[in-house]
Amino acid sequence: MSDRNPLASLPRIDDLLARAGEMTEAHGRPMTTEALRRTVAEARAALRAGRDVDTDAQTLLESARADLAARRPGPPRPVLNATGVVVHTNLGRAPLSAPAREAMIDASGYCDLELDLGTGERGSRGARLAPLLADACGAQAGIAVNNAAGALVLSLAALAVGREVLVSRGELVEIGGSFRLPEIMAASGARLVEVGTTNRTRAEDYLDAGDDVAMILSVHPSNYRIEGFSEAPALGALAEVAARRGVPLAYDAGSGMLQTEAHRWLGDEPSIPGALAAGADVVIASGDKLLGGPQAGLLAGRSDLVARCRAHPLARALRLDKLRIAALVATLEAHLAERRSEIPVWAMLDASHDALLERAEHLARSLDGQVVQGMSVVGGGSAPGREMPGPVVRLDVAAPDEVARRLRTGAPALLARVEDGAVWLDPRTLAPSEDETVVSLVRIALA
Ligand SMILES: *Cc1c(COP(=O)(O)O)cnc(C)c1O
Repeated sequence: MSDRNPLASLPRIDDLLARAGEMTEAHGRPMTTEALRRTVAEARAALRAGRDVDTDAQTLLESARADLAARRPGPPRPVLNATGVVVHTNLGRAPLSAPAREAMIDASGYCDLELDLGTGERGSRGARLAPLLADACGAQAGIAVNNAAGALVLSLAALAVGREVLVSRGELVEIGGSFRLPEIMAASGARLVEVGTTNRTRAEDYLDAGDDVAMILSVHPSNYRIEGFSEAPALGALAEVAARRGVPLAYDAGSGMLQTEAHRWLGDEPSIPGALAAGADVVIASGDKLLGGPQAGLLAGRSDLVARCRAHPLARALRLDKLRIAALVATLEAHLAERRSEIPVWAMLDASHDALLERAEHLARSLDGQVVQGMSVVGGGSAPGREMPGPVVRLDVAAPDEVARRLRTGAPALLARVEDGAVWLDPRTLAPSEDETVVSLVRIALA
């Protein structure tokens, strides 16, 4: 062995390629060749470093196959969500309603996105959404862009570029890891002027701050809460200050709640129409949290301000594609037509105790588990600390982490919670039609 050159034992790429029929079929010849080259190069480097490497053609083909498979994860796969987190960011936030999914499929080929079929003339993609947004938000006008971060950048760029925007020190937030208000502000070209303190800011603090103020911005603290000695002005009081200063008040409401009546689980979560009624001139919100639609950023309010945003070049850069317009239209129509239960997020928030109990009991009976009182959460940076009590299923199994792993890697994947040495299934975040699948998946994982 020592007097033989181990590098000579490496098979040639062409020879490997000749045996890689299945890979070539699945991934094409160029990518298969690349993967084989990478694998052989790695083996060569390891041999040169004096490590022991299996240079058998079959082994190398197998590593190349695994390497290429890892580079081809495919599109996102469906997951059954038994975690009890309704707006689960890692699972794509709001699941779409059946009509929203159908609308996306219908729009996915050629569609009348920018064409008036009646006149044959060119239309605008925003025209289909504009009245829906205005009606749903209780606003004079509205547009929708890529996401709430985009809507905020757009409003700052269109309404305050090169000028000052007043923000409370208590609202310089980071949401979801990469949404940092000061950075968003800098990217938009507006200048941040901090007002008040971290725990207390009063309306008067906004009265004479800054010297070239274009806007006052208030941000709903979606994912945190300052407890104890804290104070923030009501939106109405801020609106008065903004009016006295002759500048618009923008409000980032976050979750995209449309209904103004109080909800038992949502406490004081602000709604878009409520914020506008309280005096905000423009409101910004997400499409895929409590609105229950696709990823989008809503911007609704005074028509002159919305028109300036619509005319800004960033509006084009941040615009929605036809698929998301389709899903957003279907979701807004459901809200407006009082068919909220058709929207999965709302079906989950509004699920009755009795309906959840019946489903939990069925799951527990089928899986030899126990029904106990548990907690679901709204999630997704909405309603911080807001929990929803409800019946959940506890499965006392020998190796809960291993069972959860098997469920997660099954087909379809099922996400459960592991806590207190048990596996937990929350029926609230599962569609009732998924219950039977859950039973078979868990039985397979336990087998
Ligand atoms: C979630 C959230 C955002 C970010 O929304 P995206 O649609 O993800 O960009 C911004 N502001 C607030 C208050 C939020 O809750």
